Amino acid sequence: MDLYEYQARELLSEQGINAPEGVYARTTDEAVEAAERIGYPCVVKAQVRIGHRGQAGGVKLAGNRDEVRACAQQILPMTISGHEVNGVLIAEAKNVLHEYYVSISLDRSSRDFDVLATANGGTEVEEIAREHPESVKRLHISALEDFNLEAARRMAQSIGFYHADIDQAAEVLLRMWRCFKTNDATLVEINPLAKVGEPDDEASKSLSALDAKISLDDNAAFRHDGWKRFASAATANPLERRAKEHGLHYVHLDGQVGVIGNGAGLVMSSLDAVHGAGVAQGTGAAPANFLDIGGGASAEVMSESLSIVLSDPQVKSVFINIYGGITACDQVAEGICSAMDKLNASKPIVVRFDGNAAVEGLEILKALDNPNLVVRSTMEEAAEEAARLAYAGKEGK
Ligand code: GDP
Ligand code: MN
Repeated sequence: MDLYEYQARELLSEQGINAPEGVYARTTDEAVEAAERIGYPCVVKAQVRIGHRGQAGGVKLAGNRDEVRACAQQILPMTISGHEVNGVLIAEAKNVLHEYYVSISLDRSSRDFDVLATANGGTEVEEIAREHPESVKRLHISALEDFNLEAARRMAQSIGFYHADIDQAAEVLLRMWRCFKTNDATLVEINPLAKVGEPDDEASKSLSALDAKISLDDNAAFRHDGWKRFASAATANPLERRAKEHGLHYVHLDGQVGVIGNGAGLVMSSLDAVHGAGVAQGTGAAPANFLDIGGGASAEVMSESLSIVLSDPQVKSVFINIYGGITACDQVAEGICSAMDKLNASKPIVVRFDGNAAVEGLEILKALDNPNLVVRSTMEEAAEEAARLAYAGKEGK
C-alpha cells in the first residue's frame, strides 16, 4: 500500500525525523484555516500517490491567505497522471539551501535493503541517475546485521553529504531505517531531504524532510492491525476497491487488454505475452489489469471478475487464461457465459483453456455461440489475438 505524503510524514515524525510543520486539509476552507495556524509563506501540496507533483503544478508557494485560497482552489480538483487529488498538505515553507535524495527499499534479488542516495537531490532520482550517474550511490543494509549510528555515519560519508551535514544525515539514515523496519515498509523515500535555514546563520541550518514517500508491505498488514489508521484513504481506484470486496487480487494497469487468469505466475506470464504481442504488432497494446481469480474459483467468482474487467472503460478486449488444476475450466466457462449474458458484453473475449475439464469448458463456450467469444489453444496465440482485437475496432472482428 502506498501512503499519501501526509500519512508518510506521520511515520517519519514518529521516528523523530525533522520536517516542516504541516497540516492535511480536505477543503479550501480547511486549507486556509491550516495556513493561518502555520503562518506564511507556506506550501500548498497536492496529496496524490504519485511523484512529479511539482512539475505537474501540484506544489505551490503561497504568501498570504488569499494566495492559499487560490492555490487550494486550483489544486484540489486536479487529476495528476490519472490520480485524483485527495486533499492538500499545507506546510511551513522553508528556505532551501541544498537538496539531497535518500531512499531505503527492499531488494528482493539481493535479499537485503538498498539505500539509494545522492547529494544532488531535488529532481526525480531517475533523472539524476541519467544525468549524473556517478553522483547516485547505491549502498546496502544487511538483513542480518544491525545498522547502527556508526554504520550510518560511514554511509553518510560515502554518499557525499557535506561535512557539516554528516552527523545529522547519519541520524536521519538511522531513523529512516527504524521507520522502514518498524512499519514493515518496502520503500521509505525522502526527496528532497533539504538543508534549510538562513545562509549566513549557521545555527539556523538543519536537514529537513520536505517530501515523504512510503510504501507498506501488504503482506504485513496483519501485524499492524490491518493499517486501519490509513484505511479510509486506501484503494482509491474504484475497480480495485470492488475487486477487494470480492476477495480478488486485482491491480489496475495502463493498457487496453483486460487479463484474467488463475495463479499469480500464470497471470504475470499472460501480462508479458500481451505486452510482447503489442510490441510485435507495433500497436503498443498492453495489459489493462492484473486479475488472479485464485485456485478453485467458482462460476460466480469468474463472472464477477469478468464484470469488473469489462466495466473498465479502458478495456477494449479481454484475455482469459486458465490452466485447470483445482480450478475446473467448465466452472470458469459457466462464469464467462453468465457474465456475458448479464452484461450483454460487446467487447471481444479471447479464451485459452488447458488442464482440468478444458474439453467440457470449451463445449460450454461453443454452445453459447457468441461472435464476441474467441478460443485459442495456446497462451501466445490467445495473447496475440486479444492484442490484435483491442486495436481492430468493431469492423475488425
Ligand atoms: P514532488 O514533485 O511530488 O516530488 O513534490 P515535492 O514535495 O518534492 O515538492 C517539489 C519541490 O518543491 C521540491 O523538490 C522542492 O524543491 C520544492 N519545495 C517543497 N517544499 C518547499 C519549501 O518548503 N521551500 C522551498 N523553497 N521549496 C520547497
Ligand atoms: Mn519530491
